[in-house]
Amino acid sequence: MSVIIIGIDLGTTNSLVSCMRNGVPEIFSNELGQDLTPSVVAFAEDGALMVGQPAKDRIVTHPHSGKACFKRDMGNKEPYLFDQKSLTPVECSALILKEMKRIAELRLDQPVSKAVISVPAYFRDSQRNATLEAAAIAGLKVERIINEPTAAALAFGYKNPEKESNVLVFDLGGGTFDITLLEIFDGVIEVKASGGESHLGGEDYTSALLDHLLKKNEWEINSDEGNRWREKIDSVKVELSKNESTTLKVGDQEVVITQTDLALAGKNLNARMRPIIRKCLNDARVSPDEIDDVLLVGGASRMSVISEIVRAIVPIEPNHTIDPDRAIALGASIQAALSAQDSAVDDIVLTDVSPHTLGVEVVRDSPDGNHKEGYFAPVINRNSTLPTSHSEIFHTMHPKQDVVDMKIYQGESRLIADNHFLGEIVIKGLREQRGQKNPGQVDVRFTYDMNGILEVEITILSTGVKLNKVFEQRPGTMTAAEVKAAIKRLQPLKIHPRDTLPNRTRLERANRLYENLNAEERDELSRIINEFETALDQQNSEYIEHIISILDQYLNRYKDLI
Ligand code: AMP
Repeated sequence: MSVIIIGIDLGTTNSLVSCMRNGVPEIFSNELGQDLTPSVVAFAEDGALMVGQPAKDRIVTHPHSGKACFKRDMGNKEPYLFDQKSLTPVECSALILKEMKRIAELRLDQPVSKAVISVPAYFRDSQRNATLEAAAIAGLKVERIINEPTAAALAFGYKNPEKESNVLVFDLGGGTFDITLLEIFDGVIEVKASGGESHLGGEDYTSALLDHLLKKNEWEINSDEGNRWREKIDSVKVELSKNESTTLKVGDQEVVITQTDLALAGKNLNARMRPIIRKCLNDARVSPDEIDDVLLVGGASRMSVISEIVRAIVPIEPNHTIDPDRAIALGASIQAALSAQDSAVDDIVLTDVSPHTLGVEVVRDSPDGNHKEGYFAPVINRNSTLPTSHSEIFHTMHPKQDVVDMKIYQGESRLIADNHFLGEIVIKGLREQRGQKNPGQVDVRFTYDMNGILEVEITILSTGVKLNKVFEQRPGTMTAAEVKAAIKRLQPLKIHPRDTLPNRTRLERANRLYENLNAEERDELSRIINEFETALDQQNSEYIEHIISILDQYLNRYKDLI
């Protein structure tokens, strides 16, 4: 019997399972004949567990009996308390994965123990690990975690093997927004850049439309009716992607809801997507007119405003040849076939990129001779092709220093307080000895693979001693250091003269821009920001004016990326 590896799209709203059979990726429907199983779990009165459509129906009437949208809480260990039981987000996801495994076994008529699971490209490592934990609970070994837009592009590339193109995948699901730029040529599918936001999706449009209508019509609802209203408004939103207007029955009233309502409600959400798309193109160094195909995936990409947003940046019609609901699951099963070395996919090669920047905390010298802690020094830049390995040399603060506690972070900010702590390595034996070469210096090598597993190797250059640590079992919850950093960040800040509104705004904008620039551009901006901070610290007004004029020109030049 050949190895069976299934592909699972574990979605915020719906989940799908698929498998490649005889060179054809196929989606398995559940017993209701549906390809899409709602990602909802609930308990019946007698304590029986429900998964999928019945659970979805149950929470409309009994909101405290179960949960939807738990994918958004992956990485969080706090359990949900239901009427009779409690479950963590990981356990809820495990129940959905178990259901997917069951459906596959039913259709394949044989046991299944291996899977490829898709996650949003923008999932952090802790969320990826929580997904691995959920799979383990469900009795599935994960052969590969694949990014959702990459999976969609794989489905497209598999269908169009001859095509050579730059493809932009715009993926707006129930809970997450992902954007990815890929190049397809000769069966090679190469991810050039990806980005997104883990809390922006169709469910947010539903919430926004609900809030808008409640305010506009002065309706009041009690908390127990929340799910019922959400379901009604979700249908309204779906209707509005087909028609200019629709009606909603409220009591004995028929209320007309139009595209304008959805446009007003979704204004802030729409605005959040534009810079993310531009940042992705900028990272990939591809201009909008070099894009050949735009793929819209994820249920919420069917909203008409989405085509408008994309068209305003990339002036071509989105390609509708792939099914937005099924593309990710189909791609996951093609990846599963690649992992199983299925001969049907011999001609396909897939490369992916690191969705985040990885680096270490460093201390910066300031002009008054003091040191400032808390700066982030990237080692692997966002959107590096995986697997990747890169090293940087760091040194101790002073010759007598023997120990360094090297803290490793993931994120895009210049300051580690805003990035995500991954772990640390304590390095000893650094004190300078007479006659040594490269005293106090360490070579820090990061190696990052396709599954998002980071290996850090440190070499003390003076002695040749090596330290090695693999970061694969990171906890899903916040670490003590992160909690501490968050508390610290939220403490009321002392007002320094530099914290005037215009200067603070400049710095914040500059920091935001920094996160959206590519590696080379970052260096220049980082220098300007550092100079600006120094000028403010020294309170030298001429110098401040001079740097402000440079910084403002820079901010203006890149205003589209902020
Ligand atoms: P997914 O996680 O990809 O299944 O996407 C689910 C989200 O897409 C939910 O928020 C749905 O309300 C939304 N959705 C599905 N179909 C449509 C449609 N035709 N128009 C607008 N939104 C939709």
